[in-house]
Amino acid sequence: MIELNGLGAHYSRVAALRSIDLQVAPGEVVALLGANGAGKSTLLHSTAGLHRAVTGKVLFNGTDVTSLDAAERTRRGISLVPAGRQVFTDLTVGQNLELGLHGTGLRGAERKGRLDQAFELFPILQDFADRAAGLLSGGQQQMLAIARALVRRPAFLLLDEPSLGLAPQIVTQILSVLTRLTDDGMGVLLAEQNATAALGVSQRGAILENGVLVRSDSAAALLTDPDVSNHYLGSS
Ligand code: ATP
Repeated sequence: MIELNGLGAHYSRVAALRSIDLQVAPGEVVALLGANGAGKSTLLHSTAGLHRAVTGKVLFNGTDVTSLDAAERTRRGISLVPAGRQVFTDLTVGQNLELGLHGTGLRGAERKGRLDQAFELFPILQDFADRAAGLLSGGQQQMLAIARALVRRPAFLLLDEPSLGLAPQIVTQILSVLTRLTDDGMGVLLAEQNATAALGVSQRGAILENGVLVRSDSAAALLTDPDVSNHYLGSS
């Protein structure tokens, strides 16, 4: 369980997040929605430990992790897939996945098992395992970025705008994988401007406006609310 209690974050002295209260349970996908600049990335980064909280707390399974750095939070099971599919383009697909395992101490069969699971989720990555990641399509690079986080078997996944620049069909293919992951108990916080696609795979949604959480409800309620569709679903 991830719990944000009164979380606030700044850039210099400008507030980017104000007093955010949000919870994501194991096995749950929560869509974090909002326009460009609303604070979605800042919220994910603050949860991952890449951006300092100026107020409030981040709790992970009841433990206060607010003062822990990103590396320690990753070790404990919180993984971030940053926006812009930041894969190492000169390395092969296989090498990128190996990097995901860095520091886990896994060896031999266990290591191979993790890679095999990633290949099972995204079979195209196995076909292209020896290919430079830079030669993959945008959608395949996004799959690789997600797979690289998943080989660690995080308890909790933070996904920043995975649909960016991708064709709707590819977005559907990528997001549908989340359902399989949460079956195994992983919690997911999915930041998306593509609200329709995100709510389609989420149980709940939370809407950020100018750093403030203005609405939190079931995905079904948000998808059918005319106010929400006028503001957030139209452009997706
Ligand atoms: P996007 O989808 O464009 O990434 P977002 O909802 O993720 O939008 P953030 O990137 O979290 O929003 O930005 C929240 C606010 O913080 C915005 O007003 C943005 O201009 C500001 N901001 C983000 N990064 C910085 C930075 N490095 N320095 C100063 N201000 C920043």
